[in-house]
Amino acid sequence: MLLEGKRGLIVGVANKRSIAWAIAQAAHREGAKLAFTYQGERLKESVSELSATLGGASPLFECDVTNDAQIDATFQGLKEVFGTLDFLIHAVAFAKKEELEAEFLITSREGYRLALDVSSYSLTALAQRAVPFMTDGGSIVALTYYGAEKVIPRYNVMGVAKAALEASVRYLAFDLGPKKVRVNALSSGPVQTLAARGISGFTDMMKHVESRAPLRRNVLIEEVANAAVFLLSPLSSGITGETLYVDCGYNIVGM
Ligand code: NAP
Repeated sequence: MLLEGKRGLIVGVANKRSIAWAIAQAAHREGAKLAFTYQGERLKESVSELSATLGGASPLFECDVTNDAQIDATFQGLKEVFGTLDFLIHAVAFAKKEELEAEFLITSREGYRLALDVSSYSLTALAQRAVPFMTDGGSIVALTYYGAEKVIPRYNVMGVAKAALEASVRYLAFDLGPKKVRVNALSSGPVQTLAARGISGFTDMMKHVESRAPLRRNVLIEEVANAAVFLLSPLSSGITGETLYVDCGYNIVGM
């Protein structure tokens, strides 16, 4: 029960395959009380049905992370139901499909703005509102990918967005350290999810990892979730501003 008595907000559940949902299940297993956001009415039912399986009704808030009014309303609602907050999971990303299919060179100004807004700036926007409720310190974890650091063909503008996300993690960690709020990135290897299906050639990416990663396999979503629990829990109390790779070792291989 590593998270017993802790209250957390999970941002980024779309369906049962979402990494955010795997993290929610693991956090629940460890004793956390959870609230969820969903993006638009379309996803309300799915997130509501999933959260109900954890037993008891979890607070749910509509939150498009590009909409400041909805972010404000989410934290106003959280204040009423939870009072204080111990952790936040950021597991959202978006880029235009056509910009994940061709060369990075074709990225449009609007596509760049959109990808960076949804996938990077949103962490800062959420942290601004979350921190006042983290009165006893806290932990913020953002999901990232190796394409932030090395060129992964067709990951394109999302790689740039993840690079900005990882840099934001470091700057936020620096600002929030004195408030005892830790901020870390968790870099997951490829996992079959809705967002992943939008990346052209994703299946080939998984095959490549399987053949090259030191563990000769792809990471399991449960392994990503357990690492997130570690970053949320007191076991990682000395770690902030880091990017933790949970990718079967793929990132260490040069050739
Ligand atoms: P997912 O289930 O599709 O989750 C992505 C979530 O982002 C969805 O809930 C999506 O909602 C949400 N989202 C997109 N735009 C949003 C907006 N404007 N406001 C609020 N929410 C928005 O896919 P996932 O793979 O679990 O992704 C979770 C995180 O893990 C992402 O940051 C992703 O980059 C990261 N990650 C994934 C992998 C992988 O291989 N799957 C690897 C490393 C890192 P909608 O469905 O409504 O758009």
